[in-house]
Amino acid sequence: ISPPPSVLHAFEAAVRRFPDRAALVYFDGRLSYAETDWLSDAVAAHLVERGFRRGDRAVLMLQNTPHFVIALLGVWKAGGVAVPVNPMYKAGEVGHILRDAEVIALICADHAWAEYLRAAAADSPVRIALTASPFDFQSRDDARVLRGGRAAPARDADDLYAVARSGAHRPADPGLTAEHTALISYTSGTSGAPKGAMNTHGNIMFNAERQRTGGGIPEGSVYFVLAPLFHITGMVNELSVCLTNAGTLALAYRFEPGVVLDAFLEHRPAFTVGPSTAFMALLAQPQVTRDHFASFQSISSGGAPLPPALTERFRAASGCYLHNGYGLTECTAPCASVPPGLEAPVDPASGTLAVGVPGPDTVVRIIDEKGCDVPFGEHGEIAVRGPQVVPGYWRRPEETEAAFPGGELRTGDIGFMDPTGWLYVVDRKKDMINASGFKVWPREVEDVLYTHPAVREAAVVGVPDSYRGETVKAYVSLRPGAPAEGADLVAYCKERLAAFKYPREVEILPELPKTMSGKILRRELRARA
Ligand code: ATP
Repeated sequence: ISPPPSVLHAFEAAVRRFPDRAALVYFDGRLSYAETDWLSDAVAAHLVERGFRRGDRAVLMLQNTPHFVIALLGVWKAGGVAVPVNPMYKAGEVGHILRDAEVIALICADHAWAEYLRAAAADSPVRIALTASPFDFQSRDDARVLRGGRAAPARDADDLYAVARSGAHRPADPGLTAEHTALISYTSGTSGAPKGAMNTHGNIMFNAERQRTGGGIPEGSVYFVLAPLFHITGMVNELSVCLTNAGTLALAYRFEPGVVLDAFLEHRPAFTVGPSTAFMALLAQPQVTRDHFASFQSISSGGAPLPPALTERFRAASGCYLHNGYGLTECTAPCASVPPGLEAPVDPASGTLAVGVPGPDTVVRIIDEKGCDVPFGEHGEIAVRGPQVVPGYWRRPEETEAAFPGGELRTGDIGFMDPTGWLYVVDRKKDMINASGFKVWPREVEDVLYTHPAVREAAVVGVPDSYRGETVKAYVSLRPGAPAEGADLVAYCKERLAAFKYPREVEILPELPKTMSGKILRRELRARA
């Protein structure tokens, strides 16, 4: 079997086979495959008419709304490259990306347009602008999530909804191949200025097709979008897999736990994937019952560490097994996952949950500083080679050479592999704490904290210490109605961890800082410490 070269090709095959099937559902709004096709045709026509050429870049700065999917398909139909950007970014962050990627078209939410006007306008290469309101495509407003109402009408920008409904015919076939760049995905910039990973259509299609054929989810199923679509997890594991499987994509603007639980009952999804923090937030809702999860055939945690205690807590509350999966933007979402029907083992020595086994055609090595393989069970850097690994960073040959020597991705994650092929992620190389010369991996300490019944979220950081160099400090948030003092949690860890590892201080916060994709921001906690 040879998969189509791009998700656009797979989508068009679904349009031909199931024109009336719902491609998108959004609150009470619904768009069929045929409607999604002609709406995105008109967006493509608009771009081409205004001088957008093949290979040109278009920023998508949108929440999880139907506009995102229509705009993405429109950009690809025009032969362009989509640059997904967090819609909450402020002027300086947007400006960097617009200039770095030489962006011609900006497609954004109306509040994001205000940010653009505030800073980037003067030296911006943008020549085409379209704005979108979250209230399009539905009749029922959900005040809990679509807060703030409609922003003031945008100046000098066309309305995406009006453009999409213009009925304009699609432009000439752009002739996309697997080698063409589909996305430039900017990293969040925790290690220097954000760099754009170039995900090709072939990279995306490989991961989408692999999950379609190996994921055990029947064709035409409902996929719920829990991760943001601007992040590679939402883009690939949810949007691309769903369209490749002729499924229905259920959208809910952005992650809001109460709204998401209601949407589970309304749309009865078969599949979803999100960061572990999202599942913790769902379980913390007082109204949550097993019925909310009754329609699911598979639920995956992706893009962030999954503490083993959470899989058990999740199973007890929902009746579902939470599949782990490991991936990065640079390998277009997953490169290892738990095969359907199996459960990931926990390493008896460290208590770490396996992230999965490498996918087909994917070679994962654990290497030392010189790039040589280390024996099974030993720690080293995780290196990945496979059809999902991007060819490099946009216009950054030096960073590309450093991160992808000989085409193999150096992930910056430390892990190990057991002799049966299960991969374990220990932590990020840069997050290691050096306490009196001993290595402490924050995740090991966090995994212990998560076994305490009062703990909802935990993050561990190193803080400077004149005697030890660094000491271990933990931040936690608590489950509703579960009181605990910092000192109790210190004592709890002291009983279970070696003297150099247990946190000397545990500070309780109402909520831990997170990225929009749900990852706990250790760097903000380090700054706070
Ligand atoms: P930046 O690279 O700018 O810091 P980011 O970390 O958000 O941004 P992503 O590509 O979204 O970039 O995240 C990939 C990282 O997430 C991996 O390198 C790994 O550290 C972590 N990760 C992903 N899945 C898992 C998992 N199942 N278990 C542990 N860690 C994971």
